[in-house]
Amino acid sequence: MAALHADVIVVGAGVAGLAAARALALGGQRVVVLEARDRIGGRTWTDTSLGVPVDLGASWIHGIDGNPLWSLASSFGIETVEFTVGSFQFDGRPIAWHAQSGARLSDADAASFVADLHTVDAALPAVVGSAPPPSTYAAAVDTVLRALRWQGDRAARVREYMAHRSEDLCGAPVTVLDAHGLDEEHVPGDEVVFPGGYAQYAAALADGLDVRLSSAVRSVTHSASGVEVRLEDGSSVTAGDVVVTVPLGVLQAGDVTFDPPLADAAAGALGRLGMGTYDKVFLRFPSRFWGDAWVVRQQGSAGVDWHSWYDMSRVTGAPVLAALVGGAGARRLETLPDAMIVEEAVEALRRMFGPSVPAPEAVRITRWADDPFSRGSYSYLHVGASPEDHDLLGTPSGRVQLAGEATWGEDPATVHGALLSGLRAAGRLLGHEVDPLALAETLAPVPLDH
Ligand SMILES: Cc1cc2nc3c(=O)[nH]c(=O)nc-3n(C[C@H](O)[C@H](O)[C@H](O)COP(=O)(O)OP(=O)(O)OC[C@H]3O[C@@H](n4cnc5c(N)ncnc54)[C@H](O)[C@@H]3O)c2cc1C
Repeated sequence: MAALHADVIVVGAGVAGLAAARALALGGQRVVVLEARDRIGGRTWTDTSLGVPVDLGASWIHGIDGNPLWSLASSFGIETVEFTVGSFQFDGRPIAWHAQSGARLSDADAASFVADLHTVDAALPAVVGSAPPPSTYAAAVDTVLRALRWQGDRAARVREYMAHRSEDLCGAPVTVLDAHGLDEEHVPGDEVVFPGGYAQYAAALADGLDVRLSSAVRSVTHSASGVEVRLEDGSSVTAGDVVVTVPLGVLQAGDVTFDPPLADAAAGALGRLGMGTYDKVFLRFPSRFWGDAWVVRQQGSAGVDWHSWYDMSRVTGAPVLAALVGGAGARRLETLPDAMIVEEAVEALRRMFGPSVPAPEAVRITRWADDPFSRGSYSYLHVGASPEDHDLLGTPSGRVQLAGEATWGEDPATVHGALLSGLRAAGRLLGHEVDPLALAETLAPVPLDH
């Protein structure tokens, strides 16, 4: 890349980076976005190899009430479908629960299990609130179960559900998730997904921006007078300021270095937070065989890594099931070849739906931990970290702003958290808050200096 100079460099073309860049460009700044991959979107990534769009990264807008991500989707004119079964919800929409044997729970058994989950959820906040740090979420669940005097299968089923919740929402085993790791999990309003894929969102944000693909950044040198960003190919770009939005896992691996180093507050949080793993296995079948539930959940050891199946035909009409798996299960699957993963998946489905379950016609499997530009799926509160650590990670270091989902304490691990973190960084540079809806304005490209 020829030597370039911009007002602001944004590293990473995920939702945080694109939102920051768009806000800055609309604010009159000359902005260049440097993206390592040959595509934009980061952890929003829509694939069409199954014949219909499927989202390999984020799928849901988690809770549309008052959510700027949702308002902006409407302004961009992106079609959405209500699918309120994200956030590892256990109630509200049709969910089919299957026992260890594979047999579906009766309505009465399912209702009694769901009632147990409500009881435990109602008791958890007080226990978490009084847990002496460092305490794990697993310990908080145990405390509640002891107080309720539940034992045997009843306690085991709840414990298992809470473990899967941690793996799903945080990508982490419940035994290393801090007791406060799910404090921010609340979903005001319905959840929606995009039949045409989340990629539409990144495309709308990027429209009119100067985004340089295949431009992996290796180092950021900064002083009071400006920044110099060096790329893997040896070239460099200079600017007044830089917004770095690479994922937490990439920062923790030291793939991007800072000279001088990040401020103590950010560096401390970087060491304490965790990067979870969460993957998706999409299977396209000749036709649907899984009944009318929106989600099928397998209980017991039979479902340790294969506990949740989402009916994607509700979104695109095509007979596609998505198995979502996080934590140690996802780490294990990432070490296996596709054929072995599919074999396990089909075996798990045959346990519930019988031997006539056919082989899938096509599959698409993610490996987010193995991806060098992600190094995991999303951030979580590792035991010993504090809920403030997310926002502390976003502490500016001189002319370096950090943004991205891991820096947004109110809702980390989400696309709306990423969006708002990008707007916070842009607002700090512009000197005023940015209205998310302003991002829908048309952007006229501004050429950079060479
Ligand atoms: C499987 C999965 C499912 C999810 N489901 C949901 C969901 O349903 N709803 C939800 O709200 N959230 C979900 N999330 C989380 C959500 O996707 C993320 O929180 C959000 O997309 C993060 O955006 P970001 O801009 O912070 O980071 P990213 O999207 O990761 O963007 C960072 C960018 O930096 C680039 N980069 C990395 N290293 C370099 C480098 N050295 N130089 C230049 N560029 C670099 C990356 O390629 C990437 O494009 C999911 C995530 C995953 C993985």
